[in-house]
Amino acid sequence: MNINNSLDWLAEEFRRRFETEPEGIWSAPGRVNLIGEHTDYNGGFVLPFAIDRRTRVAVRARTDRKVQVASTFNGSSPATADIDDVGPGTVSGWSAYPLGVVWSMREAGVNFGGFDMLIDSSVPVGAGLSSSAAIECAVAVAINDLAGAGLSRTKLALIGQRAENEVVGAPTGIMDQSASLLGQDGSAVFIDCRSYGSELVPLDLAGSDLVLQIIDTKVSHSHATGGYAARRASCERGASDLRVDSLRDVTASDLDRAAEQLDEETFRRVRHVVTENERVQQTVEVLRTQGPAAIGELLDQSHVSMRDDFEISCPELDLAVETARHNGAIGARMTGGGFGGSAIALTPVDQVDAVRTAVLSGFEQVGWTTPDIFEVQPADGAHRAR
Ligand code: ADP
Ligand code: MG
Repeated sequence: MNINNSLDWLAEEFRRRFETEPEGIWSAPGRVNLIGEHTDYNGGFVLPFAIDRRTRVAVRARTDRKVQVASTFNGSSPATADIDDVGPGTVSGWSAYPLGVVWSMREAGVNFGGFDMLIDSSVPVGAGLSSSAAIECAVAVAINDLAGAGLSRTKLALIGQRAENEVVGAPTGIMDQSASLLGQDGSAVFIDCRSYGSELVPLDLAGSDLVLQIIDTKVSHSHATGGYAARRASCERGASDLRVDSLRDVTASDLDRAAEQLDEETFRRVRHVVTENERVQQTVEVLRTQGPAAIGELLDQSHVSMRDDFEISCPELDLAVETARHNGAIGARMTGGGFGGSAIALTPVDQVDAVRTAVLSGFEQVGWTTPDIFEVQPADGAHRAR
């Protein structure tokens, strides 16, 4: 679908539903994390990029303090609220994402009189590509522009995160919103999750005849939420036992000492975070000096660390990664929180079909759900589309 057609379609659908003209359309991308997993809440480093799958919101401002939000997403019924009543504990379901941003924008001192909004997204939901941040960031930039608030991208990322933490109730870090707001075509976003500082890093995949394949295993293991909370708790325990504020303050040279001070399991959790932070910094360095064809081994090491030390992989992710590697990918790893979701494979253009065929047949042989395999490109961050 051509992008102008889809904007026209969205405007038309807005008119049909709200019987009025949209005032504008804003757009924000999903993201994939190239490397740096479970480092964000440890004050560490991540390296995501904004992808060419986007969420678009058509909006018309209101003056009666009402907010009406609708989405084209299957089974999402429209929601209506008074903006003065929206806040933690008052909304549930999908509308907590847009309404959460309404609340956190107001908490940040932004004044507006309400709006009608229609949301349409090409970011797959629950595949680890942050369809949630794409909504939050599209809503945040729309309100920012309509209210003439002029908030910085970094501030908008914090506003999106606050909506997700306090209104949706998901204890996520700052990575997803930062990537969606700060991303640029041809670049990854290197984020310091302690200072919130960020830098763009060149990621010219096409120029190196490479493709980033997403392998969405479509599995979501029931212990994912508990597992995420348990890993966060292990990291907090590790930091407290080592008497540091966060694991960001531990380096590879501290690991021998850490092995003596920590119990065996906590030590492995800590070792993942420490080595992963170093791998992110090395990946940035390698991208700047040699380009993406040289980062494969770092991706592989990241997967091994998540599988063996952090123990957040699962048989489906391991099979996807191993099969991709044995069939032409130069590096592969699980991405996202773990216990299901997606793997990424960095694959030479001429091996893409071989990887896809091998992964599909590998899953078929064991009788698992057919994964979704597709390509993503680095793309521009959130902006006004019309
Ligand atoms: P991810 O961000 O990895 O895709 P999350 O569980 O964080 O997964 O967020 C997915 C949730 O976000 C969905 O369950 C739904 O509530 C909401 N969501 C995402 N995309 C849309 C959409 N286009 N319309 C309505 N709700 C959406
Ligand atoms: Mg999400």
